[in-house]
Amino acid sequence: MLTGSCHCGTVKIQVPRKPRSLTSCNCSICRRHGGIFGYYDKSKVKIIAPRGALDRYVWGDKCLALCRCATCGCVTHWEPIGRTGSRMGVNFRNFDPAVIESTRVRRFDGANTWKFLD
Ligand SMILES: [Zn+2]
Repeated sequence: MLTGSCHCGTVKIQVPRKPRSLTSCNCSICRRHGGIFGYYDKSKVKIIAPRGALDRYVWGDKCLALCRCATCGCVTHWEPIGRTGSRMGVNFRNFDPAVIESTRVRRFDGANTWKFLD
């Protein structure tokens, strides 16, 4: 199991293992916050946060919510809204840097073609 946390430590994230690859995306939101995401079925991810500790940002077609710590502002994960699926994204910037260093980071063109660039 791997555990990450936001900068202030209020929000903790647990995943069963590191992902096979990580994704750096250039879409309008990812290019701004700079997260590097690993994807999981949401049943495999545990978000440990007190009530009110997360702020959620929803935009566009409203199929996912980008979640960040309400105290320190670190983007921790995104989650599907309603029945739009069970996949979620975890921002590995909140984990030991060794995880990113030892995992392939793929560049995803979420801004235009919706395809990997590498
Ligand atoms: Zn925090």
